[in-house]
Amino acid sequence: MENKLLKKVDLIFCKTCQDDIEVVKKAITRHPDEIINDLIDSGLKGRGGAGFPTGLKWKFTKNQDSAVKYVVCNADEGEPGTFKDREILDTVATKVFAGMAICGYCIGAKEGYMYLRGEYNFLLKKLNASLDEFNAKIKAAGLDFHIQLRSGSGAYICGEESALFESLEGKRGEPRNKPPYPTVAGFMGKPTVINNVETFVYTAMINHFGVAKFKELGTTDSRGSKVFSISGDTPKAGIYELELGMSVDEFVKEFGDGDTKAVQVGGASGHCVPRKKFNDTIIGFEGIPTGGSMMLFNSSRSMYNVLKDYLEFFTEESCGQCTPCRVGCQQLLKGIEAVKRGERPASYLEELKKLALSMKVAAKCGLGQSVANPFISIIDNFKEEIIY
Ligand code: SF4
Repeated sequence: MENKLLKKVDLIFCKTCQDDIEVVKKAITRHPDEIINDLIDSGLKGRGGAGFPTGLKWKFTKNQDSAVKYVVCNADEGEPGTFKDREILDTVATKVFAGMAICGYCIGAKEGYMYLRGEYNFLLKKLNASLDEFNAKIKAAGLDFHIQLRSGSGAYICGEESALFESLEGKRGEPRNKPPYPTVAGFMGKPTVINNVETFVYTAMINHFGVAKFKELGTTDSRGSKVFSISGDTPKAGIYELELGMSVDEFVKEFGDGDTKAVQVGGASGHCVPRKKFNDTIIGFEGIPTGGSMMLFNSSRSMYNVLKDYLEFFTEESCGQCTPCRVGCQQLLKGIEAVKRGERPASYLEELKKLALSMKVAAKCGLGQSVANPFISIIDNFKEEIIY
């Protein structure tokens, strides 16, 4: 593993960049395959956390034989501890629109949708005004592509791409079986590229700056930079764009309060890294990937309370469609409460870990599958705080 020094960069919030309409105009003078090949070459992976190569996603969708295709922006930022898409949408929304328009041009889509988190409705007025202007300008530039905004209703599960499509189609937001994947059958059953807010900005910025500038940053497996939402026990809470590939230790030296005992990388569904592993853990796809949430905990925090909060969250947000997640989340929560009260022995935690691992393989979608990440990493590293 390559270890990178923590370096702050400025691709996403870049104030001196070319006008975003000019970025689109320049892109549509090129062949779609050239743009897609650039994205593949750049190594850009989806910034939502799953890390699928963006260029390949676009290529697979372009290659589908369908007269109707869609571009969807997942702006349903709901992972606890994540608040950076809000800032991107508030300050550089036209960069997101530019990425969507370039995507539409590349895959042959005429319509794009942005699905905005219900709690971000306060941004709607500003976004709609900016979007009206953007749509008119790209039409005048000769690109037959139109973006619309849709608002969610506050369900965390609608950040899962297939549940998002269901919601966008006016149905109850529940995950679908996969395959088929969105590149084949996404929104309205048509081939769809769905990327998150930040990923679309990077596609526009790679078009603007060129591949080389992006590839200068990060590591072989984690090219480029990423926007992080940093919260918890830190004197520097906020939003930062940082190079990928830094160790948790480097991160803590920059953002910790001198007493950091754990960092939750990737929000509630991510992994908890204890102090003894700070040095060996890379933040990136070769280590622990993150959709952007980084929560720091110092010695004043009870990791039992942290885990209990996460499990209450998952129990509340489980859509209830599949048994492993619907029942599993509740049983994990009840289980740690029973251990904490002394009604169950410490050894019961090992049984609960087996349940969490079975959810990882048996739950239908990422929500139920990822509960094991915080559960096992907190139990394994902070067991003494969980037991009676
Ligand atoms: S894993 Fe949970 S959220 Fe996903 S489909 Fe099953 S019950 Fe719903």
